[in-house]
Parts: sequence; structure tokens; C-alpha cells
Amino acid sequence: MGKPKVGFFDFSSCEGCQIELTNYGDADFLELLNHIEIVEFREAMSEKADHLDIACIEGSFTRESERKRLEDIRARADVVISFGACASTGGINALKNHQSDFKEYVYGKDADSPHLQSNLKALPVEAAIKVDYKVLGCPMDKYEFLNIVSSLLHGKTPYIPDYPVCVECKRRETICRFDLGDHCLGMVARAGCGAPCPADGIPCEACRGFVTNPNEDSLEKVLIDHGMPEERARTKSRMFTNTMRSDA
Ligand code: SF4
Ligand code: SF4
Ligand code: SF4
Repeated sequence: MGKPKVGFFDFSSCEGCQIELTNYGDADFLELLNHIEIVEFREAMSEKADHLDIACIEGSFTRESERKRLEDIRARADVVISFGACASTGGINALKNHQSDFKEYVYGKDADSPHLQSNLKALPVEAAIKVDYKVLGCPMDKYEFLNIVSSLLHGKTPYIPDYPVCVECKRRETICRFDLGDHCLGMVARAGCGAPCPADGIPCEACRGFVTNPNEDSLEKVLIDHGMPEERARTKSRMFTNTMRSDA
């Protein structure tokens, strides 16, 4: 049996997750290429494939016109992986879901440029097509991607944690941001990253999205109890996802 054919596709995103793919270092990346054949990857090649074993999709779904392209990828692929926060949760693009003047705010006089026009909220890819697995994070965690691909190659279901970042933070004995007078979303954020942000002295902003059934009431109360203004506490969790209640 030949190597599985893998394609990479991008929608509304900074393309940082695809760049992260090239950041493995030669040894890891070449080892990955020993096991998969990349047959479509706009960043690096012009070839197209009729059939894909795995399609990795980066970026949010934010234009109705993108639906057909997503459906075409889904029809060609046995397995679809949403690749990074933009594709998996809406990502940082989802900040536009809460603001009408976002384009002017970000792009100033260029706000009317044709490539900036979009007619939907910034949504995860699964709002348009079935997604089989998600590689979370902004950027996606390249080692989690390797684990998912490795599991698929071995016929196993990839394991994606569904417990909070606090668990990983405690495991590495990091002092809690709240004990340092700061805030943090680690109690509702989905683990799997190893809690690098608190260990580096910055709060977790939940770039990997949330655990199943996050306790938003408790999060809001803890943030307020630690001095955050109420409105800020209510919207704090919007940074990287469109899926929390505060998004409604
Ligand atoms: S998840 Fe982050 S790094 Fe990846 S494409 Fe979106 S904004 Fe860029
Ligand atoms: S710093 Fe954040 S992730 Fe770590 S224990 Fe405190 S709340 Fe949880
Ligand atoms: S600690 Fe939080 S913000 Fe940092 S990588 Fe993990 S989930 Fe993302």
C-alpha cells in the first residue's frame, strides 16, 4: 500500500498553521514525509489530486462562496482535519462576530478592499462540512498534528484531551496567574498544549477552544472576583472562539 495522500487547504486565516508545519526542523519533517505523500499544498506546489486520504483545512468559513470549495474538498477526502483555531473554533477571526466596524478598525482606509469582504460570521469549518478531527491551537500544535496523523496511520482513534489547561499547569508546578494578581482562562480552556503560556508568565487565552460544557458562570465570577470589570469578564472568552455563550 502506498503512502496516504494528504492535502492542505486554506480559507480565511493568517496561514500561520501551514507555516508552523514547516517549523518541525528537518529531521521531524522529513520523517513525516516518509509516511505521507503531500499531493496538494498551495504554499508549495501547483498540482491537484482527485482523491485525498486526509484533507487538512486551515482558516475560518466566513463567505457563503466558500461553501462549495469546502464541499468539494469533503467529497474528495476520506478524512477531514480542521487545522488550527481558525478552522476548528472560528479562531481570532471570530472577534469580528461582535463588532460592525471591525474592518475600519483593523484596516483603516483599505477596509473596502475586495478581498476583505465577507458575508458570514467567522465560523469553524464544521459549520459547512463534516469534520472528523481537530488540531487545536493558534497556531496549531505541530506535535498534536503528528500524533493525530500517526494514530490515523495506525488505525487508531486520535486522542484529544477534554480537561482544562489547569491540569497541565498544575502538573508542571507553575504558579497560578490568579495568585500573581493576574487573570487566566485555563479553567475552561481545553488542554493538550502543556500549558506553556502561564509557564512563560502570560495568561492562557484559550487558543485551543474550550472543554465540553465549560462552566462559564464560574469563569465570569472568578474573573470579576479578581478585579476584572463585569463587561470585560463576560466577553473575555471571545478571543479565540465563536462557540461560548457570550457569543450569542
Ligand atoms: S489558528 Fe492562528 S496561526 Fe493558525 S491560521 Fe488561524 S490565526 Fe493563523
Ligand atoms: S495559571 Fe491559569 S491554567 Fe494555570 S492553574 Fe492558574 S488558572 Fe489554571
Ligand atoms: S496555555 Fe492556553 S493560550 Fe496558551 S497554548 Fe495552551 S490553550 Fe493556548
